[in-house]
Amino acid sequence: MGGLANLMATMTTEAKHTETIIQGIPVSPGIAIAPIHVTARGLSAPEVYEVAEENLGEEHRRLDEAISRAKEDLAEIQGRLAELSSEEESRIFEAHIMVLEDQALLKRAHFAIDDRKLNAEYAFYAVMQNFLEAMRRIPDPYLRERTADLEDVCERVLHCFDQQHARKAVRPDDRHILIAYDLNPSDTATMDRNLVLGFATEMGSVNSHTAIIARSLGIPAVVGLEEAVIDINSLTHAILDGYSGKLILHPTEATLATYRIIQQKKQKARSALDSIRDEASTTRDGRSITLSANIGLIEELPSVKNSGAQGIGLYRTEFFLLNEDQDAIPDEQAQTANYTQIARAVAPHPVIIRTLDSGGDKLPAEPLSEPEPNPFLGWRGIRVSLDRPEIFKPQLRAALRASAHGKVALMFPLISGLGEIMQAKKILQQCMDELSREDVAFDANIPVGAMIEIPSAALLADIIAKEVDFFSIGTNDLIQYTLAVDRVNPYVAELYRPTQPAVIRLIHRTIQAGAQAGIWTGMCGEMAGDIHLTPLLIGLGIDELSVGPQQVTSIRKAIRSLSHAECAAMADDALKASYSAEILQMSSTLAKKYYADLFE
Ligand code: PEP
Ligand code: MG
Repeated sequence: MGGLANLMATMTTEAKHTETIIQGIPVSPGIAIAPIHVTARGLSAPEVYEVAEENLGEEHRRLDEAISRAKEDLAEIQGRLAELSSEEESRIFEAHIMVLEDQALLKRAHFAIDDRKLNAEYAFYAVMQNFLEAMRRIPDPYLRERTADLEDVCERVLHCFDQQHARKAVRPDDRHILIAYDLNPSDTATMDRNLVLGFATEMGSVNSHTAIIARSLGIPAVVGLEEAVIDINSLTHAILDGYSGKLILHPTEATLATYRIIQQKKQKARSALDSIRDEASTTRDGRSITLSANIGLIEELPSVKNSGAQGIGLYRTEFFLLNEDQDAIPDEQAQTANYTQIARAVAPHPVIIRTLDSGGDKLPAEPLSEPEPNPFLGWRGIRVSLDRPEIFKPQLRAALRASAHGKVALMFPLISGLGEIMQAKKILQQCMDELSREDVAFDANIPVGAMIEIPSAALLADIIAKEVDFFSIGTNDLIQYTLAVDRVNPYVAELYRPTQPAVIRLIHRTIQAGAQAGIWTGMCGEMAGDIHLTPLLIGLGIDELSVGPQQVTSIRKAIRSLSHAECAAMADDALKASYSAEILQMSSTLAKKYYADLFE
């Protein structure tokens, strides 16, 4: 237990209140100004309320009392255990008592009460969160496993608070900036956006689903923080800058004032973009590009409407189907209701429902007995659907049912070759036959598309094109599989280059194959929303761009500012280039020439 005490001792430096900037990777634009909350899993937060200056003494007393009550309980348990079982087990509780005698911990909890004027239980909880996060990251497996002990102690103390004396005065503004070692996509998808004003993590990358969802929901976010999150204290006041990737702790008044001005400026720029919301997404020389939105949650429908997008180019159904709060995947009826609601909301435009794309960095479709060694090369996308018709068929049937109420298209993820398309279409036909027999209405000509996100599919695009109605290029995966760079691994983030010549050639090949077969090719990966690359994509001949709802207006402005002919000439040169940087430079030059204001 000496290790634990030492650890705590190293973490007791009280906030120095000097402005500190921690750099990370910006993944979702926006600015948040709020106190920090460091999360540790497994404990639910107690109520938080503000305490008047004159009552702070009472909170210190409540904290001491709760801790001594918890210690008495522990001593009693320890005594009983010593009689009943081995000494070793009773030592566990001795260790718990030692945690509560740690002066460093107590000092910090008392400091938090005074510093933030918060109730004792929340101050104690917030301090424990930091310790827990620290424990989880210790290389020593023995110490790391002791997190459960620490959680136990924390929970015990929280139960020991005298609720009668809790002064539930004015609730402070509990909105906060969330700090975590890592967040999974479902944590992000279910975030309470009224409370979480922004988040920053130590892990993560621009193309992780966590980042994609943050952008889509408009939550400012920074990942890959250069400093360990264990060194950041809960309750510290901070600014999160999702434009430049900065987390600024204890900002000075001058910094706060600067950021308030930036916030106003960005707000003004956004309002200016909103004014072209209903204008056509057509280049200066008349080439129309369909501009649609990506969504992962039904809650994003209002943002899609506000963006003026021409429908939904990618509905990632996995967050709805695999929500951790549900016991099972929603049945056909629940799925039909969901898809119908979306189809009706975007009518007369279409919604492209992508069938379940579980696995990778998202939840698996079913609990696996062992984690996959390489989840991105494993059981994900269409592979799962073809192996599990009991999951696939209700989804197809539900999409078909919804197609009677609006424009619905289907799209299959992670296609590697023609075989998967043929199998998926066969199952789709079975579903159609069943529904016809049941006298259920559906669109018999429902468009079916293939996601092109594996290099093999791009190379076989001419063959696949004969069997589908459209292509949608999933660059998030196409880049990772072409370059062998994990899209969520910050250690190789530098190598994840959308303009790598091999990637550009695969995109070009796909668009060409689509055009030759008379079908349209869109792009729904994050590359579609990068304003540096709009000239290149238009030049390569893309027909549709599907981007996060928050990016629709800037892409609209970019399209309207460009000439297709000029972009095509540039793309011809880009296809001859040897390096990613050259291609990026060529496209950015046109971008900055025609819409420099979008980069401010
Ligand atoms: C992609 O891979 O580009 C894509 C759009 O799908 P996802 O990000 O959900 O894997
Ligand atoms: Mg993908």
